[in-house]
Amino acid sequence: MKQCPRCGSRDVAEYRFGMPVFSGELMDQIKKKEIKLGGCCVSGNDPQYHCNACRLDFGFPQGGDGGEGAPPA
Ligand SMILES: [Zn+2]
Repeated sequence: MKQCPRCGSRDVAEYRFGMPVFSGELMDQIKKKEIKLGGCCVSGNDPQYHCNACRLDFGFPQGGDGGEGAPPA
């Protein structure tokens, strides 16, 4: 399980982009906040994970974790 770089929580959801197949398993994972749907608009630098504890998005492919207060370089 991923860990939030800001608050250290392991209550982290994984982003899924594009149009997912809404299986029972997927719906279950969304309900449990293991999966978060990022929608179909992919910018090229989208976060891979979302912290359910402090709502930080992180795991950006180009760096710059956290829209609010990125860590010092
Ligand atoms: Zn967090």
